[in-house]
Amino acid sequence: MTTAYSVGARVFLEDPEHGWIPAEISSCKASADGLTLVVTNEGGQQTTVTGNASTLPPLRNPPLLEAADDLATLSILNEPSILHGVQSRYTERKIYTFSGSVLLAVNPFEPVPLYTPEIVKSYIGRRRGELEPHLFAIAEDAFAAMSLDGHGQTIIVSGESGAGKTESAKLVMRYIAAPKTPTLNLDKNSFIEGASLVEQQIQATNPILEAFGNAKTTRNDNSSRFGKYIQLLFDTNRHIVGARVRTYLLERSRLTYQAQTERNYHIFYQICAGLRSETLEELGLEADYSKFHYLNQGGFSTVDESDRDKFHAMQTALRIIGIDEDRQQSIFQLLAALLHLGDINVTQTRSDAAIEEDDPSMARAMEFLGVDPVNFRKWTVKKQITTRSEKIVTNLTAPQAVQVRDSITRFVYACLFEWLVFSINESLAGRYGDAATRAETYIGVLDIYGFEHFDKNSFEQFCINYANEKLQHEFNTYVFKLSQDEYKAEKISWTLIEFEDNQSAIDLMEGKIGILSLLDEESRLPLGTDASFLQKLNAQLDKPANKAVYKMPKFANSAFTVAHYALDVTYQVDGFLEKNRDTVPEEHLALLTSSSNPFLREVLDVALQHREGGDETHAADSSISKIPDPGRTSLVATTARSTAVKKPTLGSIFKSSLGTLMEMLRMTQVHYIRCIKPNQHKKAWEFSSLLVLAQLRASGVLETIRISTAGYPSRWKFEDFARRYHMLINWREGPSLIKREQYKRICVLVLLKAKVDKSQHQFGETKLFLRTGVLANIETSRSDKL
Ligand code: ADP
Ligand code: MG
Repeated sequence: MTTAYSVGARVFLEDPEHGWIPAEISSCKASADGLTLVVTNEGGQQTTVTGNASTLPPLRNPPLLEAADDLATLSILNEPSILHGVQSRYTERKIYTFSGSVLLAVNPFEPVPLYTPEIVKSYIGRRRGELEPHLFAIAEDAFAAMSLDGHGQTIIVSGESGAGKTESAKLVMRYIAAPKTPTLNLDKNSFIEGASLVEQQIQATNPILEAFGNAKTTRNDNSSRFGKYIQLLFDTNRHIVGARVRTYLLERSRLTYQAQTERNYHIFYQICAGLRSETLEELGLEADYSKFHYLNQGGFSTVDESDRDKFHAMQTALRIIGIDEDRQQSIFQLLAALLHLGDINVTQTRSDAAIEEDDPSMARAMEFLGVDPVNFRKWTVKKQITTRSEKIVTNLTAPQAVQVRDSITRFVYACLFEWLVFSINESLAGRYGDAATRAETYIGVLDIYGFEHFDKNSFEQFCINYANEKLQHEFNTYVFKLSQDEYKAEKISWTLIEFEDNQSAIDLMEGKIGILSLLDEESRLPLGTDASFLQKLNAQLDKPANKAVYKMPKFANSAFTVAHYALDVTYQVDGFLEKNRDTVPEEHLALLTSSSNPFLREVLDVALQHREGGDETHAADSSISKIPDPGRTSLVATTARSTAVKKPTLGSIFKSSLGTLMEMLRMTQVHYIRCIKPNQHKKAWEFSSLLVLAQLRASGVLETIRISTAGYPSRWKFEDFARRYHMLINWREGPSLIKREQYKRICVLVLLKAKVDKSQHQFGETKLFLRTGVLANIETSRSDKL
């Protein structure tokens, strides 16, 4: 709409540093190549530009519309306008903004007074749009929708690491878990006074899962290293009767390796900081944990005071979910065993690995694990291959032996995590099977890792980005459908909107001849390597049909590139096979499962049974059969009880649990919260435009605004439009029509008065639909009148 360019109109100029800077049109002339504009920026600098609507600087909304509660009500909906809208609100300390049906949440990076009991109360029973955008508005929406007809709901919280997903998910859960409790205290991380046992148990899941599944990373001091879906279960009276937790793909490499300035899982530091000194001594631990190889690689050596407090909160939480002191002691002992494992000294003699018979760390680790050190030592430095006719034992090199040792640590920890989730679920299912009989419907909250793109990307990033690609597909479908539904409901004529489908990227990753299946194929070959995997990928996937999604990077011969919906990401193949296989040697598995430590046996039993998925008697919560299950925990791949069974790989497990999750999402009504990280330094109220713009793009918010508003970005209820703009028509007629509630008539008159062309609007059943920029002009006339 070139007509929108006129003297005095506001535009944005592209700027390499800030993304976009505001400017105003000082002169405007038609020329052979379209329009020639002279624009003046805020510093008074003038620039001349020539072009047409698609090449001229993007238009900017009038001031009053600029910081709208809901971006979908903006008249002009280009990238800079959306970015500017979010930014203006953030500068005013408004961290939440609606974008159509999606809530954008920009991390404030400091405590904000937005979650007081008064505020909680103010959202109860209110409809969206009546109050400021807020997490609670989304939670209330979900609760209302569930109450209406008992339909299951899911709130999907997404965003990159450190954007605020986990904090947002916790606030949403607290609101839903106790919406009517006046003593609700959201400011403190404390348990709700007067809350029921079930509510307390639900809150207790957070400190436990965070201790065992969160760690300090460069991006977030409390980064969740797993995905989580928690289902709050309600009875027919909409009272909470229980809950169910499902977790996805705990990062395992962190247990045995941490990058500079990063840490291992919080729990290790918590026990060192929080356990009594006698207990520490018994376990061979020290408050100064820097001597442990598994804890000191990131460069940390001093105790963090908060680890001690967190430890005590975590212990309280364990008690609440029914894990008593004895059990806790067993858990800590297992954790200590892992730390000692990491300190076993593996040396290299000429060509073979060696461990001293009386290695003190090995002695301690084996004592706590209940495993015979002689056998452990043997199968750590040697390997056995079974051929058709015989068994051949060969020696390993030192690095190979270290691999074996570390794989045991990762395996035992993953099993422990799974056991914890299982125990949490048993307690949340209601000790007396309450939830099983009473649960009728649910609200689920999904807190899942966002799109990741580092300098070096590996198998973990591949899985995470695969999950995001799937979620993005659901999101597009959802927004697309919503917008079509509105057109239909309003009975306006509309044409099918094209949008960028990411199905081909999904096929590339999970298809029959896709990356995951080729990876599995190669992982099952005894002689498969990362290099042969890459060869296979290139041979099978580097084809014209995949041109848009699969690329061989020019300057790397050990990597492949996937064009994701958000960004092209290059994955380094080294480690893919090992991580996907995720095995511990058979001999070690046998040693562990026949351990003399009954707790370890139980942990393995639960984790391995769970994985096979066959034994329903073990899963207390599986009896909550009325409620669709988003998939069992999926952490432990090594299930080899007999070699005849194909071992499931980590990739295939992740794929299938993701599949179940998607099916589950499709059954529910979804609500979206997109968290945004305003800067990389965790600094309060600092807003980096380029960083935010990248996230708005990656989250699909920009694309979906385009979809949902294609054709007619502005949609106003007749009444809302009439009330705002009736002053534009005759001073007497306007108010009198308002009094008689002739809202549609006012709309007609306002459009006439503003000379809006027929092609620029449509009347629906209850709403007026306007094309880009129309509202901006009307709004300008309105402010001129004021
Ligand atoms: P994510 O789960 O997306 O990685 P977190 O939820 O852990 O991110 O948030 C990272 C940090 O940001 C938190 O530890 C906290 O300091 C801060 N933060 C996030 N949300 C809020 C909020 N609503 N109010 C205050 N601080 C917040
Ligand atoms: Mg998190």
